[in-house]
Amino acid sequence: MSAYWVSQAKLASGWRQNVRIECDVHGLIESVTPEGSKEGAECFDGACLPAPSNVHSHAFQRAMAGLAELSNGGRDDFWSWRERMYAFLARLDPDDLQAIAAQAYVEMLKGGYGAVAEFHYIHRTPEGGWYEDKAACALAVAEGAAIAGLDLVFAPCVYLTAGFDGAPLQPQQKRFQAGPEDIADIRGALKRRGVRTALALHSLRAVPADRIAEALAGTPAGPVHMHVAEQVGEVEACMSATGRRPVEHLFDLANVDTRWCLVHATHMTPEETSRVSRSGAVAGLCPTTEGNLGDGFFDFPGLEAHSGVFGVGTDSHVSLEVVEELRWLDYGWRLRQQRRFAEGRAGHRGADLWMRAVAGGARALGEAHCGLEPGAKANFLILDSDHPSLAGRQGDALIDSLVFCRHGVSPIETVISNGVAVVREGRHAEEDRVADAYRRTMRKLVA
Ligand SMILES: [Zn+2]
Repeated sequence: MSAYWVSQAKLASGWRQNVRIECDVHGLIESVTPEGSKEGAECFDGACLPAPSNVHSHAFQRAMAGLAELSNGGRDDFWSWRERMYAFLARLDPDDLQAIAAQAYVEMLKGGYGAVAEFHYIHRTPEGGWYEDKAACALAVAEGAAIAGLDLVFAPCVYLTAGFDGAPLQPQQKRFQAGPEDIADIRGALKRRGVRTALALHSLRAVPADRIAEALAGTPAGPVHMHVAEQVGEVEACMSATGRRPVEHLFDLANVDTRWCLVHATHMTPEETSRVSRSGAVAGLCPTTEGNLGDGFFDFPGLEAHSGVFGVGTDSHVSLEVVEELRWLDYGWRLRQQRRFAEGRAGHRGADLWMRAVAGGARALGEAHCGLEPGAKANFLILDSDHPSLAGRQGDALIDSLVFCRHGVSPIETVISNGVAVVREGRHAEEDRVADAYRRTMRKLVA
């Protein structure tokens, strides 16, 4: 058990002063007491916020950030980027995965995320066989999270085909091949080591309808994550194979509800946006990656109009900061609509985005509670009360300035994940050791 005392905190009921937060040994908040005692607690003079969960990560892609920016002068898009990604991952072994994941997760914590849903599809050897331990790659990534002390929900994904027509995997996709039975084995191995898991279905193009049904039948509860409608080419291929758009097709195949996290969902009609919003599924939005890959703009005003739920993810890790995802999310539609705020949503925009990302992130990771309340995961952060960007601010204006006004060093001073303070004074206790291992790995991979 651990206890913290903070001079102010954002609870569901609003800002409260002198708040004592007690956490149990399972990483859950046990009690939250405004005007609480400091006795036996670690004390912080600063504003405490719940930390959003990162709803979508491919940890290994942290090693590629910046390496795919060299144009050959031809047409470059998601599909050409994917070829570069395939060539890169062909060199990765489980030790590399662990070193890269630990680096990504340390940075993720420092960027303000309190937990992560890891969407994992490197299952096999580069040649396409299984490692002696079928879960070797998954366990390596999970060990990276353990080193970083980041709350993890591991979502190994079913991946079977190269297209909507059921085409067999290409040679460079052989590492990904896993059916529902393989994923059940890998999840079992993770659970035996105390790692929480979720089901991931890579995409409609990579998992045939009958295998989606099989995977869902074998997973009656818990989160289900899937990439959907990220690319116009994917929408067109789905239309030609099924006569339906991807999101329509998915709703035909499955009972999409609050268990689901639909990652990207970039290319939807207004009807699809409405349907996703009404379903209670989480839209897993990754604006910096979607921008980097030239995916397109998600219809965020459409989601807001129907009170849809969203979470943010860092996906390819071109950024690892909550604030950058939220900024890009809002600036994207502001630029397109030449407006600043959504009508009908009076109040502090940064605080509103932050708290909705907290709620959607918790739902995507299968949490029954969110925020600073008993029963929620003890994932929260404390801001530097002396940071110039926060000077003079109170209440939700602090969160507005955290999101929309950051200059120089991050105001995020302390990060608590699973009830443990893993970032203090802006530093992670393991960051030097983790970075050394990461540098060694990168010098080997990029040489
Ligand atoms: Zn992804």
